[in-house]
Amino acid sequence: MSGTKCPQCDVELKKCLIQQNYSMVMCPNLACSYPFNERDALSSTVYTKDSEILDAAKKRLRQEEQKDGGES
Ligand SMILES: [Zn+2]
Repeated sequence: MSGTKCPQCDVELKKCLIQQNYSMVMCPNLACSYPFNERDALSSTVYTKDSEILDAAKKRLRQEEQKDGGES
């Protein structure tokens, strides 16, 4: 779910895992408290499949590998 912008400050929203299989779409902008200042904050809680979590973890791992095995 990338490319979703915060309706309050226009920063790209980040998906944050809050518990197993649930993530919350949050604004990474520290000056902005979206979605916690919204009455329907819970509506931004989305079910996250294991495969999606695994995918994110794999991507992170790959990035780490690239960092280590760079052209040094
Ligand atoms: Zn924001």
